[in-house]
Amino acid sequence: MSDSVRALVAGNWKMNGVIASAEELQQMATDLGSADPGCEVMICPPSTLIGFFQRIVGDGPIEIGAQDCHVNEKGAHTGDISAEMLADVGATTIIVGHSERRQNHGETDSTVKAKAEAAWRAGLKAIICCGESDDQREAGRALDIVGTQIRASLPEGATAENTTIAYEPIWAIGTGKVPTIDDVAEMHAHIRGTLVDIIGDGANKMRILYGGSVKPGNAPELMSVENVNGALVGGASLKAEDFLGIIAAYNR
Ligand code: PEP
Repeated sequence: MSDSVRALVAGNWKMNGVIASAEELQQMATDLGSADPGCEVMICPPSTLIGFFQRIVGDGPIEIGAQDCHVNEKGAHTGDISAEMLADVGATTIIVGHSERRQNHGETDSTVKAKAEAAWRAGLKAIICCGESDDQREAGRALDIVGTQIRASLPEGATAENTTIAYEPIWAIGTGKVPTIDDVAEMHAHIRGTLVDIIGDGANKMRILYGGSVKPGNAPELMSVENVNGALVGGASLKAEDFLGIIAAYNR
């Protein structure tokens, strides 16, 4: 079952980070060394830093991912970046459907699905984000909303190897608010059930990350919940000390 899934702790730097921020990445790489951190580790910096960061981490335990991509491979799309371009500079994975993209850029489930397919087309993995708003949770619709998002955002052909799901309640992102452990367990079990329903038993190996105000202090409890196979971390991934503190939930 999902307990045998190797966890992933991924950091989403959002629109933060310049060349000098490599210091934090370097500290993460130095601290992790070559010993097994107990989970997979990824940093998703702004696209401007992907190539540079990839050269810093080399073949070490930190993977470099991207935060978004265009659905097309190339063409007249000023300002956009394709999955192939991200692969070219060393990204292994692309986050798609983050709630900030859904809210601020009008991305729908079908856009998210097309972006996940674009990631695969370029030979990369996709982290597909989903999550309910506070109003939707208050109205008792969280499970339905997330189930519907997954059904509409997950492309045909999704496997545990090419796709990870990240459950991120919108109201928990960057707010310091975290759902109760029971709510996390209920939602992750619901997501697991939905995935098994869509793609069959292979879904038991698909990672389901929790994201939303994960910190070193709450990571051990959150990461021990059944069907939580790691974390998508925003703010706390910017500082090596905090991010390493979260990863420590897997190697204590
Ligand atoms: C995120 O934006 O993916 C996120 C989880 O942010 P934070 O950890 O800052 O809540």
